[in-house]
Amino acid sequence: MKLLLVEDVLDLAELTRSALVREGFAVDVATNAADAMAILGVAPPDVIILDLGLPDLDGAELLRSLRRRGSAIPILVVTARGGLNDKVEGLDGGADDYLVKPVAPAELAARCRALLRRPQEVIAVQLQVGNVTFDPRLRKLKVGDNELTLARREAAVLESLVRQSGRVVLRSAIENSVYALEDSPGPNALEATISRLRKALQSFGANAEIHTIRGIGYLLRDGLQP
Ligand code: CA
Repeated sequence: MKLLLVEDVLDLAELTRSALVREGFAVDVATNAADAMAILGVAPPDVIILDLGLPDLDGAELLRSLRRRGSAIPILVVTARGGLNDKVEGLDGGADDYLVKPVAPAELAARCRALLRRPQEVIAVQLQVGNVTFDPRLRKLKVGDNELTLARREAAVLESLVRQSGRVVLRSAIENSVYALEDSPGPNALEATISRLRKALQSFGANAEIHTIRGIGYLLRDGLQP
């Protein structure tokens, strides 16, 4: 899952970024509204964390302009402004959640995960395909009695495949959700990750398999599906 953190105070941005990376997110950072727009154009995130006090444009204005253009990306506003009017204005302007600084990184991470959860997953945090279950929060892959805690990137790749199981997931979409812009993965990084996941699934006796759709992407399918 990829986040775009828009925060102009550099040391706070770095502190927050590294805390969120430790929580398993890929994080791009923009320190002003113009950079945020540029990143949104090339690498759309799953959630935007938006500081309202930005040097070049009010964050609330950025929020409204994104919504006017039809962007549906969940936006979590983080700001020093704690007045009731600011909250109402932020939420009315299209924010999905609102936190007042200082914010504990663990809470920020939890709120991001909550925004990414689909309604049915509020009840079941575990994702399932065939006899494979995956808990994205704990990065725990389970098949029968076999259990494995995946490395962050393996977990992120598996999560995007499981969430769209039965459908082909574009290679670029997986890379975009797993890597931050500055990560610059090598050309074979994704193949290597997929191959580790395949081995784990096979050795656990999973009845779901990751298929390569040459030149396009990957497909995780329950062996019983047609
Ligand atoms: Ca600020």
